[in-house]
This record gives sequence, structure tokens and C-alpha cells, in this order.
Amino acid sequence: MKCECIKAVNEKLAARNTRLALTITLTQQLDDFPTIATEQIDKGRGKLKAVSMIPTFCPFCGVKCREEG
Ligand SMILES: [Zn+2]
Repeated sequence: MKCECIKAVNEKLAARNTRLALTITLTQQLDDFPTIATEQIDKGRGKLKAVSMIPTFCPFCGVKCREEG
């Protein structure tokens, strides 16, 4: 994330014993994003596992999360 929202939000949540769940990507550079929860539709052996989603824009301030690579 290009902004400091995760840090700022976590500082506020800490008083409530809470922090954001983060999704860490290892693509071009190590980066982390607020987690968007996803789940598998069909469960069981041999089924594709659910994939992760990352936001394009910061959900807190609206700034674009990163330049397109
Ligand atoms: Zn932000």
C-alpha cells in the first residue's frame, strides 16, 4: 500500500485488541493489503482452492494501492 492507512487504522484498533487481517504479496516487491475475505464454493478433494483478492484502491482513503506493473 502506498498510503499509511493500515498503520493508522491498526493503531486505532489496538485499543480494542484488534488489528486488520493482511494479505501479503510477493510479486514485484513485498507489499501488504487489507484482506478481502474469499471462500471456496465447492469443497472437497480435487477442487480448486479459493484464491486471494487484493484491492485496487485503498478502502480507507481511496488512493490507488500501487502502480500497475
Ligand atoms: Zn489509504
